[in-house]
Amino acid sequence: MANNSSEIIIPSSLLPGDGRFGSGPSKVRPEAVEELAKVSKTYLGTSHRQPTVKDMVGRLRGGLKDLFSIPEGYEVVLGNGGATYFWDIATFGLIEKKSQHLSFGEFSSKFAAASKNAPFLDEPEIIVSEPGTRPAIRVNPGVDLYALTHNETSTGVSMEIIRPKGAGGMVAVDATSAAGGLRVDPSQFDVYYFAPQKVFASDGGLWVALMSPAALERVARIAESKRWIPASFDLTISIENSRLNQTYNTPALATIFLFVQQLEWMLDNGGLEFSASRCDQSSKFLYDWAERTEYTTPYVVDPADRSHVVGTIDFTDEVDAALVAKVLRSNGVLDVEPYRKLGRNQLRVAMFPAIEPSDVEALTKCVDYVVAQIAK
Ligand SMILES: *Cc1c(COP(=O)(O)O)cnc(C)c1O
Repeated sequence: MANNSSEIIIPSSLLPGDGRFGSGPSKVRPEAVEELAKVSKTYLGTSHRQPTVKDMVGRLRGGLKDLFSIPEGYEVVLGNGGATYFWDIATFGLIEKKSQHLSFGEFSSKFAAASKNAPFLDEPEIIVSEPGTRPAIRVNPGVDLYALTHNETSTGVSMEIIRPKGAGGMVAVDATSAAGGLRVDPSQFDVYYFAPQKVFASDGGLWVALMSPAALERVARIAESKRWIPASFDLTISIENSRLNQTYNTPALATIFLFVQQLEWMLDNGGLEFSASRCDQSSKFLYDWAERTEYTTPYVVDPADRSHVVGTIDFTDEVDAALVAKVLRSNGVLDVEPYRKLGRNQLRVAMFPAIEPSDVEALTKCVDYVVAQIAK
């Protein structure tokens, strides 16, 4: 193995146009940042209770309704804190007594833990599967909320969102790295929640939830019960504020702006089908390459479970993926290290809509180049 790996220089003809492949925060389109600079004196640093910002929140809520073709009666609700906060919010305000969690990676396991630790809820049912696979829902009449994850970002496993047949419980989906990149039928969920630093190419710190009439009704019912809910976790307060195109406390205005930029870029180009097709194309490049390359295999064995937004690629023992990632990093190709707690000889590649499919293809060529150089 070459001991001068830090000196490997990837020829510029092989490099992607943009080197950001992280799974969150992820690539922000430079065009969106340029638009933000244009409103540096009229939007940034102005009151979130005035029309300039409220109109932007209105564009956000309306755009999301269009992107997901959400049915009449569903509402777009938002607040501060990101997807992680939403697990606590859901624990307080959406689970009536007992939840069921499909736990197949770091993120899905965290919501399960939040519910398990809540003293006012019954013991949740947690169905675990090996990393790299996914469990199936078990219909249980005692469950009032099924917690699904559209894309498990830590492992690169995605699942189709299908409401369990004959189940009375609500379906709540963590779609943080999936929303806007994977196709979804809104009639199959009651709550579809996410944060904008992934597919929506913005910054973190905000959560958005698309909520069905059943979910809105559940929130109202729990709020009337005796359960104590801190105000910043109280969904009734978030819902009231969202209807006025506001958040309960001050949001990050740049985050909202960049979110709207990405959303309207998707809508102008054809909506969810446009963005999902880009992810299809990128993931085809990545998985086809991983299958035909001698030293790589897709980590997720079942092709149907392989995510089109976050790809995980295992390397054979002869190639040190961490070293490959390090060389890529020194050449400006960033954040393809695997999820830290998965502990595999692997690269993880985000393929969100903002990332050019041709850049994913270029990344595979860069990996081939680096591996050949290391072997010298
Ligand atoms: C990134 C991610 C989260 C955490 O999002 P935060 O906004 O950092 O709280 C939760 N779930 C999934 C599936 C994610 O990919």
